[in-house]
Amino acid sequence: MIKQAERISKLPPYLFARIEQKIAEAREKGVDIISLGIGDPDQPTPSYIVEELNTASRETANHQYPSSVGMLEYRKAVCQWYERQHGVTLDPKKEVVSLIGSKEGIGHISFCYVNPGDINLVPDPGYPVYGIGTILAGGTPYVMPLKEENGFLVDLDIIPEDVAQRAKLMFINYPNNPTGAVANREFFEKVVAFAKKYDIVVCHDAAYSEVFFDGQRPLSFMEIPGAKDVGIEFNSLSKPFNMTGWRIGWAVGRQEVIEALGRIKSNLDSGVFQAVQVAAIKALTGPLDCLEDMRKLYEHRRDMVIDKLNSMGWQLEKTIGSFYIWVPVPKGYSSAQFCELIFEKANVIITPGNGYGEYGEGYFRISLTVAENRLKEALERMKKVQW
Ligand SMILES: *Cc1c(COP(=O)(O)O)cnc(C)c1O
Repeated sequence: MIKQAERISKLPPYLFARIEQKIAEAREKGVDIISLGIGDPDQPTPSYIVEELNTASRETANHQYPSSVGMLEYRKAVCQWYERQHGVTLDPKKEVVSLIGSKEGIGHISFCYVNPGDINLVPDPGYPVYGIGTILAGGTPYVMPLKEENGFLVDLDIIPEDVAQRAKLMFINYPNNPTGAVANREFFEKVVAFAKKYDIVVCHDAAYSEVFFDGQRPLSFMEIPGAKDVGIEFNSLSKPFNMTGWRIGWAVGRQEVIEALGRIKSNLDSGVFQAVQVAAIKALTGPLDCLEDMRKLYEHRRDMVIDKLNSMGWQLEKTIGSFYIWVPVPKGYSSAQFCELIFEKANVIITPGNGYGEYGEGYFRISLTVAENRLKEALERMKKVQW
């Protein structure tokens, strides 16, 4: 056996890989498992986007290597999107880089700024890639707890002075996975001031910017005065347009950071298949009725899930962003124990909160990306379980 590098042995096993293995094993035995575990839209990509890919894929020019920072037309489409959705003006040549999904950029950004021994500020519970990218670059994640009493916003006041002084990057994510929290203007303004004071690059993950309910559109970090001087925002077509399999996203904002990310990328990858970029341009610049339909669908599922959980004894308020419901486990159970119970007794997969970090302990996550009849059945099965 060849000994693997230390950086690999430091990685925790990817949570979803473990869950997928569990599902596969049970299904092999013929068990009807309903998974509410994975945040991957169940609806198809709108057909006019697929058609655009079909056409673009026949163009010989699109068969060659793309530019790793993205076609200028694609970067312009991202700028147009920011104007339209957020009233923010960006320079397509200097303030936008294409990504092979935002996960790719989130994973690589640490390579641009982190030297061995450096610290990144990472939310907990949170999307695992923030910490993993940090570790792969030789850095150390410093956990920023997201607590219910703070509306799951990061509490900047409890970050120790010496940690803030040493920190290179700060990852934040609103609407939030897994808690469903949405950030207000005041919070983002505090983040800008904090980042300026300590010279930290803010990396806002806006993957759920279009997944909001009750007509309350979340802010882009780029809407905050000074945001472009301190940081960048990641986003992608994955969640709004049901395009998780297509692998296309972007980072926008602070020019020198975008340039650094582009430089790392041009040395590691060759960008996104041009036909996919052309289809993405169609999505970003086209009619956006499909986004309204997507929100209505999740909103309906959200109402159903929250009503059912509340009928089982929970007292949950309606979430206003993301397609997740973050739920405290019943007294006397750890997250893992409760999820195991539901798996064994109801054949339903829910995600244990501790999979998103130590401050996720005591919660589980339900994803709304499941057909409504299956979602309903899963909750009915859960209701029959004694705990
Ligand atoms: C889904 C998700 C992403 C990224 O998805 P991509 O498909 O790589 O763009 C990023 N952040 C969070 C929090 C997510 O849940």
